[in-house]
Amino acid sequence: KTFAEAGFSVELMKAIAKQAYEKPTPIQCQSLPIVLSGRDVIGIAKTGSGKTAAFILPMIVHIMDQPELAKEEGPIGVVCAPTRELAHQIYLEAKKFAKANGIRVSAVYGGMSKLEQFKELKSGCEIVIATPGRLIDMLKMKALTMSRATYLVLDEADRMFDLGFEPQIRSIVGQIRPDRQTLLFSATMPRKIEKLAREILTDPVRVTV
Ligand code: AMP
Repeated sequence: KTFAEAGFSVELMKAIAKQAYEKPTPIQCQSLPIVLSGRDVIGIAKTGSGKTAAFILPMIVHIMDQPELAKEEGPIGVVCAPTRELAHQIYLEAKKFAKANGIRVSAVYGGMSKLEQFKELKSGCEIVIATPGRLIDMLKMKALTMSRATYLVLDEADRMFDLGFEPQIRSIVGQIRPDRQTLLFSATMPRKIEKLAREILTDPVRVTV
């Protein structure tokens, strides 16, 4: 398997080459064609598997495919992660591929000034990477709207539940249009996560590595 088989644009292939990613990891091989086809995915994968690029690369394609939305506000791609450390890692990975494509990425998590984050979100972005609590704060402050969000990723869903973020996750999902594409990644699939997946994903494909 190669990245070229995914049919990525020249800019994206250049950005991938710059990272010296020679070939897709197993989770990327399995999930890239499915995610790129627009299907919802449940990915059972751990950190270190390359799962971040597995959802970020199709997110870039998804955003590039919607130029008619250029004048609207708010993120198109939304990623929720359990901790600020993970959110920051995802932010760095997203930046690698977003910049060359003119896509703006904002990170929203605790420990940073709310006013600064408010200002950054107000200035506009296509991708937001967030911890659930801080994203809710920003939505309440009307720093962003979810009106054009159509690609949602819940990363490490089991850890987000362990940290008590279930109500925040449900609130965020409830603010995003139902015809979105939704990806849920989790290292484990306890019953509570299965239930959430049944409620918020549409006919998902399950990928296990
Ligand atoms: P993740 O599981 O998403 O946290 O990724 C773990 C590490 O693998 C990160 O440092 C990524 O930049 C890197 N990575 C992701 N995809 C690939 C790939 N196809 N080839 C080599 N490294 C990769």
